[in-house]
Amino acid sequence: MPTIATKLIRWQTQHGRHHLPWQGTRDPYAIWLSEIMLQQTQVITVIPYYQRFIQRFPSIAHLALAPQDDVLACWSGLGYYSRARNLSHAAQIIRQDYQSKFPQSIELIQELPGIGRSTAAAIAVFAFGQYAAILDGNVKRVFTRYFGIDGYPGKADVQKQLWHKANACLPKKTANQSIETYTQALMDLGSIVCTRSKPDCTSCPLQHNCVAHQENCTDKLPSPKPRKQLPKKETIFLMLIKQNKILLEKRPPSGIWGGLWCPLEISTSENTIAYCQQTYGLEVRPLGNISPLDHTFTHFKLKIHPHLLQVVSPNDALLQKGKWMALDDALESAIPTPVRKLLKRVILTDLVKTNG
Ligand code: SF4
Repeated sequence: MPTIATKLIRWQTQHGRHHLPWQGTRDPYAIWLSEIMLQQTQVITVIPYYQRFIQRFPSIAHLALAPQDDVLACWSGLGYYSRARNLSHAAQIIRQDYQSKFPQSIELIQELPGIGRSTAAAIAVFAFGQYAAILDGNVKRVFTRYFGIDGYPGKADVQKQLWHKANACLPKKTANQSIETYTQALMDLGSIVCTRSKPDCTSCPLQHNCVAHQENCTDKLPSPKPRKQLPKKETIFLMLIKQNKILLEKRPPSGIWGGLWCPLEISTSENTIAYCQQTYGLEVRPLGNISPLDHTFTHFKLKIHPHLLQVVSPNDALLQKGKWMALDDALESAIPTPVRKLLKRVILTDLVKTNG
């Protein structure tokens, strides 16, 4: 009977994806970048970001020498910004410790910031042809269904079982089967056939031995994450406008939106106008209403109340705290998605042009 690897390799050759921009190369930098961008993000979203990024930073050395602000600006809109900060940091380590040559050992790759076990294995497979198992979110879904493994895949004991299966399913080196094609097959199957909802089991090369398919329980596997109510937080963004420009400040390098440009943030318990006066000696007047914006992080929900205010007194101290940017320039800067949405709302109101 053909092994799972044989079936997958055969299927990938006929039905898999062969023309993604990061395929057909052994360049570990290109492969690393695509793997990081593809974490929590769909291929269709990643493609234009990947192309722009690789054009702007064509090598590890270029990335290592680029200011982090430029890297974040190029990443802006893709979310999960720690990925971009880690890329930048890892590129600097590769430049300093490995003379800009990507390390080949999986252990060394995994020591770089932002690279976990599965990503390290994927880079080692595609760049160096090493035999190693991957286990990203899509592959976990395929294996939990195929082997009928219960329990949330994020749990340590379930992960352990899955890694065991992932290693056991690898093609045999002796059979001369392509590890690259096998690995790509798993990725493709999870992405285009064994999808989260409504998997296309009739097109799947694994259907005859798949437990979830045979037992008609594909909707139950993988087991969902145990539900936890996310805490809710609220905050005020001071959208300070002066001469058609908005004041943005760079957030500290770690934490939420680390290193990105945002409006000044204050507690909802503050009176905005009094706060500006007392904290910055700044006279402001309300410029109009922008509706609140809800944003969900992995560990809490945030309601942002944007207060659009026109500055009517000059203040140098504030100039040092942040940067006054024209709205169009701000949209091109390293800003998080909620700020981008708020700036677009401000532009739509036209209040800034008329009064700012
Ligand atoms: S048969 Fe269906 S559930 Fe099983 S691996 Fe294939 S697509 Fe997924």
